[in-house]
Amino acid sequence: MKLLACPRVSSITNRDFSPTTYTHMYVYRTLRIEIPWRLVEERPDVLGLAVRMRLAVEEYARRLLKELTGQEEPKLAPEELVCLLTPDRRELARRIIEEVFPKYGLKRYIAEWAKFFWRDVVFHRAVPLNAQLRVGNERDISMAVFVDLKSGIVRVRKLGIPPFAVELKKNNIVWIRERLEEGAKLKLAFLGIERQRGKEPTYGKLYVALVFAREVQQIKPRAVVVVDVNRLDNGVTAGLLVDGKLRQTLRLPDESAVRELRRLHEEISRLDGKAAREADPVRRRRLEDRARYLASKRFRKIRGIVAHIAREIIELAKTYSAAVVVDTMEDETYRELKERNSSGVKKHFLDGLGQLRRRLQHLAQWYGLPYLEERLYSTICPRCGAKMKELNNRRMRCPVCGFNNNRDNVPLIWAKRRYWEILQKTKQPAFSATTTLLTS
Ligand SMILES: [Zn+2]
Repeated sequence: MKLLACPRVSSITNRDFSPTTYTHMYVYRTLRIEIPWRLVEERPDVLGLAVRMRLAVEEYARRLLKELTGQEEPKLAPEELVCLLTPDRRELARRIIEEVFPKYGLKRYIAEWAKFFWRDVVFHRAVPLNAQLRVGNERDISMAVFVDLKSGIVRVRKLGIPPFAVELKKNNIVWIRERLEEGAKLKLAFLGIERQRGKEPTYGKLYVALVFAREVQQIKPRAVVVVDVNRLDNGVTAGLLVDGKLRQTLRLPDESAVRELRRLHEEISRLDGKAAREADPVRRRRLEDRARYLASKRFRKIRGIVAHIAREIIELAKTYSAAVVVDTMEDETYRELKERNSSGVKKHFLDGLGQLRRRLQHLAQWYGLPYLEERLYSTICPRCGAKMKELNNRRMRCPVCGFNNNRDNVPLIWAKRRYWEILQKTKQPAFSATTTLLTS
């Protein structure tokens, strides 16, 4: 991993680590509460504020990263960002915030928060706001974001516009209560806005994000859950290994979800093709609108499937105190595939896989389960090491020793063979970008 090139970060990790104890980690999870369109329509100042905050944050991040890398729009992975934003950069960051934020008519208070959380602002592309969660009858202590669980209302205020309130949905309240039961506390909030990429960036959904944090001690793994995430459209295979034996296999999601996704893909490409051939502009626009509608439906569907798969896998790992080991393709292969299929159906599956990896890592950390990404092969024979051939129906066959199995099972067989080595590896303390920030 690139982390080795980041001496400051590894020294922080080493300081916290002694070989006999497991690291305490500070972990967080975020709840997004959508601001309904009705409120956005009634209150254009809310949308205006969110856009101004977002523009200020983007200008600040762009200028800071340009100063640090010399590049106009550097593409950085989260780990690289963390490496870059070392404490000695704080003064420079503060100076840029001082210059940029007033230009967008933002209150002094917002700039002060941005300066305090200068790294998080770059990382999340949003300004953290202080927040209070009222569960019972606690006194309102005038934080910018006030979440009242009893009345189910989130109040946002002190941001230079009149206050506004958003209702919490039932599932939001359930989610918050679950986090509280796990010992988490509301740490901060963001006022966020989704940006749709395109020729001219447009701003979409508004939301209030609540960030819950807790300290967790990484468990000592007694088993391993191996996840093969090669293709979302073929389903994801997860295997539970205990004492080097395969105890349980999960195939996710179920066939019907996969079939429905495929149907959506086909319908979208059919509409796209029809629109491209359509001469009449009105009819063409109608086809394009329909395709766009289905594409956003597909996006939500993939997100739902990913959330479901991650939940099932993490549940299994929690039950058996298992480390989560994800078999991933090399980053280069992944990027190559993504570029080659940049507009095709496969891209969405690949995006889904990226989401799944991040989600598994994030949830594993939240529950203190060790997480490891390890290359396990699906085309190399686990018996003799020869390159295998793929027959039809995703069966793999070794031309040398005759080994023969389903492609999805091969990584599990590899993991079984290397069980003790992998288990040992998962016992190394993990460092992750997602756990370092919001603690500055
Ligand atoms: Zn073989």
